[in-house]
Amino acid sequence: MAAVELSDWTRAVVKVGSALVAPDERGCSTAHLLPIARFIMESRRQGKEVILVSSGAVAAGLAEQGRSGPGTGLTIPERQALAALGQPLLMAHWRRLFDMPCAQVLLTYDDLQRRSRFVNAKNTIAELLDRDTLPIVNENDTVATEELRVGDNDNLAAYVAVLAEADLLVICSDVDGLYTADPHDDPDAERLPEVDEITDEIYDMVGPSHRAVATGGMQTKVEAAEKATDRGIDTVLVNGTKGSHLDALGRGEMPGTLVRRSEQPLSARKHWMLHALPSAGCLTVDSGAANALRHDGASLLPSGIVAVEGRFARGDAVEIVVGEEGGWTRVAKGITQYGSADLERIQGQQSSAIAEVLDNVPADHVIHRDDLVVEP
Ligand code: GLU
Repeated sequence: MAAVELSDWTRAVVKVGSALVAPDERGCSTAHLLPIARFIMESRRQGKEVILVSSGAVAAGLAEQGRSGPGTGLTIPERQALAALGQPLLMAHWRRLFDMPCAQVLLTYDDLQRRSRFVNAKNTIAELLDRDTLPIVNENDTVATEELRVGDNDNLAAYVAVLAEADLLVICSDVDGLYTADPHDDPDAERLPEVDEITDEIYDMVGPSHRAVATGGMQTKVEAAEKATDRGIDTVLVNGTKGSHLDALGRGEMPGTLVRRSEQPLSARKHWMLHALPSAGCLTVDSGAANALRHDGASLLPSGIVAVEGRFARGDAVEIVVGEEGGWTRVAKGITQYGSADLERIQGQQSSAIAEVLDNVPADHVIHRDDLVVEP
């Protein structure tokens, strides 16, 4: 089998998890960070740009309070306070490893979802890169409420890669890459050097995290890879505890798992609709409508809708599902022209009849084809 090689890249997001920043769950340690810093410095020396996404604020906060051990069992206010305490320590820790300025960028889910804040964050990161500064990103845990947080830095790193228009996402953890089974439990598990597409089978293969301080585990890494590759960004899962693996990556070799970028990446708008915009409801459609969406590039009309779930307004994102083979299959996600109350009144009707039922008719379709992302 030919060796897997990394395509040339110019801008990478490098994500470093708590398992590397705070091994043994005892606050920040440089044990694993020197090779990562070396990879970043060497990449910059070659004229490439790097953005770092680092976890470890909560772990650093715990250690500062003289507490070691897992960060599990903490209440949300405790996690938020510990993140506030630990974040400056985390920054100081990284700063010691680089001979260039480091800038702190704290983001929430809201910043990624709302256009104006997204553009601000994007411009700030671009300006920092222009100023030869290393942006170090973390989630703004102190203000992010449960419903409005990304929740894990793997997914955050994918959002940052999209925002910063990176062409590579490197997720460093303490495992060698994606395995056919959990290598902690199964001695026959084999590493996959290359994955062409994140499929349901890949999700089924990965299990939950084994570590207490780390939020993610393999599942969030796979989610992150899906988000990034959908937007045309190659994603690499690499063992950041092994300096030789990072050095190999620096030479364009593939010591971990390469998840290849999609050959037909989503546009920025469709990617945002699919991955950043939360769904406010669900429309069940009949099989005729499902076929028209899937195969004919059609818009969704009221006549194809058989059920409306959730309370939502015009302009919200909704899921579209169809009943198939005794279960529900997601067909698409889109932005609706009608709120749920109006939809309940026009579902199943011909478009020409909308005006007989509603006073206000913004469109003869419920979701325009340009506002739909159809499942492949
Ligand atoms: N933002 C959290 C922290 O810095 C980490 C989230 C994660 O590990 O994914 O502690």
